[in-house]
Amino acid sequence: MTGDEETVVVEPVVADAVVAEVPEVEVKVEGHGVFEKPFRVDDWNPKTSLGRKVKNGEITSIDQIIDSGLRILEPEIVDALLPNLSAEMLMVGQAKGKFGGGQRRTFRQTQKKTAEGNKPSFATFVVVGNRNGYVGLGYGKSKETVPAREKALRSAKLNIMKVRRGCGSWQCFCKSPHSIPLQVSAHVGSITITLIPAPRGAGLRVASECRKLLSAAGITDVWSQTLGTTQTTINLVSACFNALKNLNRVKLRDSHVEALGMSEGGK
Ligand SMILES: [Zn+2]
Repeated sequence: MTGDEETVVVEPVVADAVVAEVPEVEVKVEGHGVFEKPFRVDDWNPKTSLGRKVKNGEITSIDQIIDSGLRILEPEIVDALLPNLSAEMLMVGQAKGKFGGGQRRTFRQTQKKTAEGNKPSFATFVVVGNRNGYVGLGYGKSKETVPAREKALRSAKLNIMKVRRGCGSWQCFCKSPHSIPLQVSAHVGSITITLIPAPRGAGLRVASECRKLLSAAGITDVWSQTLGTTQTTINLVSACFNALKNLNRVKLRDSHVEALGMSEGGK
């Protein structure tokens, strides 16, 4: 037996060991709110004809784009036309672990099993709004946290929409845009959400993540009712956004618009 003989150790591949060993990936994201550098129109090089029109000053209001039904393909268009937009991440994921696990996190972390090992990916929701009649919701998913957030932010800006506000509460009828003009509902997955007009001072009586969405739109008082698996925050928030979208579909007479004190997109 010689000493310099190489010993080859063949490690047995144990599938169960890989399953049990879930690496905790640190999620570090600094500061909520504004994620990126401040936008400057001079630095922007538009890539679409709509973007060029916005930069030249042919289009001065986001309403012109939304009313014409054109699709926004550059997030800079929204930055230029709605300068006081704020962004917020929603708590759609949850922490892992035995003790106190399941606490809410901004990234939903999932894993795909491959031959090389577990490949994590991160998904998140970002809500943008100017707290005065405009709101957008975006979903982003990536292998890293920061690209996921950037994708979600971009998508939220492209999904910007006008929100109809008013006072449809029979206890109030104050003709000011602090609530919603009508009761609306929407459903995504198993969830059905109903938003109900509330009198002034009632507050946002909805789930915490929906509250972020509604306050970004500029609504301050609303009552709600939900059915289904509301722990699935992604579906719950999407349903809430769709409810606001359904509000825009309702056809109203001019007399009703006046009686409800309805405003659309800050006007
Ligand atoms: Zn009122």
